[in-house]
Amino acid sequence: MDARLEAIRNTVLARNPGEAEFHQAVTEVFESLGPVHDRHPELLEAAILERLCEPERQIIFRVPWTDDSGRVQINRGFRVEFNSALGPYKGGLRFHPSVYLGIVKFLGFEQIFKNALTGMPIGGGKGGSDFDPRGRSDAEVMRFCQSFMTELYRHIGEYTDVPAGDIGVGSREIGYLFGQYKRITNRYESGVLTGKGMSWGGSLVRPEATGYGTVIFTQEMLKTRGSSFDGQRVVVSGSGNVAINAIAKAQTLGASVVACSDSSGYIVDEAGIDVALLREVKEVERGRLKDYAVRRPGVSYVEAGSVWDVDATVALPCATQNELDGDAAARLVRNGLVAVGEGANMPSTRDAVSVFQDSGVLFGPGKAANAGGVATSALEMQQNASRDSWSFEHTEQRLTEIMVGIHHRCASTADEYGDPGNYVLGANIGGFVKVADAMLAQGLI
Ligand code: NDP
Repeated sequence: MDARLEAIRNTVLARNPGEAEFHQAVTEVFESLGPVHDRHPELLEAAILERLCEPERQIIFRVPWTDDSGRVQINRGFRVEFNSALGPYKGGLRFHPSVYLGIVKFLGFEQIFKNALTGMPIGGGKGGSDFDPRGRSDAEVMRFCQSFMTELYRHIGEYTDVPAGDIGVGSREIGYLFGQYKRITNRYESGVLTGKGMSWGGSLVRPEATGYGTVIFTQEMLKTRGSSFDGQRVVVSGSGNVAINAIAKAQTLGASVVACSDSSGYIVDEAGIDVALLREVKEVERGRLKDYAVRRPGVSYVEAGSVWDVDATVALPCATQNELDGDAAARLVRNGLVAVGEGANMPSTRDAVSVFQDSGVLFGPGKAANAGGVATSALEMQQNASRDSWSFEHTEQRLTEIMVGIHHRCASTADEYGDPGNYVLGANIGGFVKVADAMLAQGLI
């Protein structure tokens, strides 16, 4: 890392102790930015990096609620409003027991650059809670969401901060959150949340957008080598919103998706995953992958193993951060891997990224490859602002154009900075330059 940037990075780490994921995300971005500061020393003078690493605002709050047996439960809520140079803060809410400030900050920091890469007018933010929706009744989830919004509502708004879903937050949770926001404010402010239901302001293609977008980005990478998804053997981690829609899109493009996972284990289905059955088990019944294996002949289920033990030519990590380490990466490469598209945020460890890049594997980092979700959220905001709703075909076409554009921006930036094919460099510099320009123009704020 450039010595000037390393000194700033070390100060950031010391100021934010105990936030390992945030440290990792900051380090990964800083490693790319030396060449930009050689060309633009004025960015150092203006302390752009120091400002970028300090969120504009951080909110931490108590979320009290009662469970079905009448017991009082207390969770912790977060919203980190990181950077509004390009537009209102935008980024999802994550409900998972592992959530703490370091995770919310890593996600919010990544979101700044991701949102800039989309070319849409959105700043970066993220939030969530250590609440675990798994195993909770609908009534419990509703009471939790109502309590969460009872504090959050005063910090958000269509021109201020626009949350959406992430792990553990899907259309059910967005519905309860929106209902409570409307009730407290007495405003039908559609643009305050994205990922809404189709009959009350949601956008077609938003549920599919992150998974579809990841596959479109990966297809663009494959095209640079004269290849495509057609005939690829694909392994996907996770079996939530992003994973399921990535599987569906990859299959549409002619790939055979043979494995996916949840936090309990993974399935191998050599005949190709049956997306309709997977949706039934995971989305309708909120069940476990084990149930898929029970219902479909010829499927094996491996409890507690790593899905990266299954060989593939294309890997799409779509579960969570740091789920694919250096050893798993080396094993995948030995078994013939040609491309990785990150549907999740920071799913590959730094060791894994090095293995992929050193062995010439096409590697699309999450902040570029999974940006289709937030880009389509911005399309949802556009539709809300004009009180319009677009067709599936039109919205999917916009998503495709945006993903092709992000791929082009990353690839051309990597070329411009002398490291062709390095999508990590391209994404980090491409996103950073846009935000830095806006911050310089807006003065010291
Ligand atoms: P979901 O909650 O719909 O699904 C998450 C999936 O990942 C589930 O299969 C879950 O398994 C698995 N998982 C979660 N945590 C772990 C863990 N610690 N170990 C192993 N498996 C785990 O979330 P999404 O699909 O929305 O999000 C997946 C990833 O994509 C996240 O990194 C998110 O930040 C990222 N992302 C999501 C976007 C969106 O639009 N939703 C946009 C951009 C990025 P189980 O069911 O057992 O919990």
